[in-house]
Amino acid sequence: MKLLHYYQFLGNEKIIDLAKRSLSSGRFPHSVILSGKDGTGKRTFAEIVTSILFCQSGNEGEACGVCKNCKLLASDTHPDYFMLSVQKDTKSIGIEQVREVIANLHRKPFLSKYKSVVINPADLMTIEAANALLKLLEEPHDDTYLFLVTDKYDSLLPTIRSRTQHFQFSSIPSGLIAKHLQDNLRLSEDEALRISRLSDGSLGEALRLSGEDLVVIEELYNKIENVIIQGDPASAAELVQLIVSEKSQFDNTIKYCYAIFRDINFISWNPEIEILTFEHYRPSLIRMAESIKKERLLKLLGSIEKLSKIKNRNLNIKLNVESLVTEIRSLNI
Ligand SMILES: [Zn+2]
Repeated sequence: MKLLHYYQFLGNEKIIDLAKRSLSSGRFPHSVILSGKDGTGKRTFAEIVTSILFCQSGNEGEACGVCKNCKLLASDTHPDYFMLSVQKDTKSIGIEQVREVIANLHRKPFLSKYKSVVINPADLMTIEAANALLKLLEEPHDDTYLFLVTDKYDSLLPTIRSRTQHFQFSSIPSGLIAKHLQDNLRLSEDEALRISRLSDGSLGEALRLSGEDLVVIEELYNKIENVIIQGDPASAAELVQLIVSEKSQFDNTIKYCYAIFRDINFISWNPEIEILTFEHYRPSLIRMAESIKKERLLKLLGSIEKLSKIKNRNLNIKLNVESLVTEIRSLNI
């Protein structure tokens, strides 16, 4: 893990304040659920708290980065720190994984005064695994801290929720994300602002967008614009190809597809509206909004939403995307 200080954490100041106070008074809860959308710092928070608990320097409220515990944490080799996640080629966190950690927790910590367990994403534990964990929650160990990370709080067992303190992480303000991108990745102000709007409060998404993803999304935008303005079969075929080509990116592509048409919809009602995701394309959005029929646009937004909820992605996905693109083509007819 990368050892960070509190001041490097973006947003969610209330949670950070609460953690500072409860750590300095020795009352940080032994089991917590960290919930909130992807990219809002839940796992980073668990790591910051762990490093403060483990650090031997005695500095209040921060990890020194140079003691043995800090160094082992930074190199992901600390024997008292456990990270449970979905293993390769499986879809869930199984009971064996949870049992193995619990067996470890019965022993004294090796180097630190404490042990720390992070389960991420906790909603992907099987029922058996979650029930095994429940025993641990019923008989907490004084030297163990447990962090359950999830973006689906409601999917956790009610019995787990009721025994665990809940920290709910909010979206990060786009101004903070933009500043972070400018300071840390040396992006220009314009590019940082553009990405921060697209990332919708998720630093994780902003960092992905700062890599190659932004190029793909701008390509998606341009192809959609071609289909609406030119409406020719070749542009339509190119758009279908772009959406179905990267299966692993399908959810993301559809999400941005929705954001583009949501912007066109906002603009069609009020050209001066200030909440656009694709603010930097405002003139082009206005052009598209002027050329389409509003009621068809609303229907299209419904269709995109429906497509995003399809569970079995292997089934007829191309057919579904083709019919969506046909709907986009007929927006202005
Ligand atoms: Zn240290």
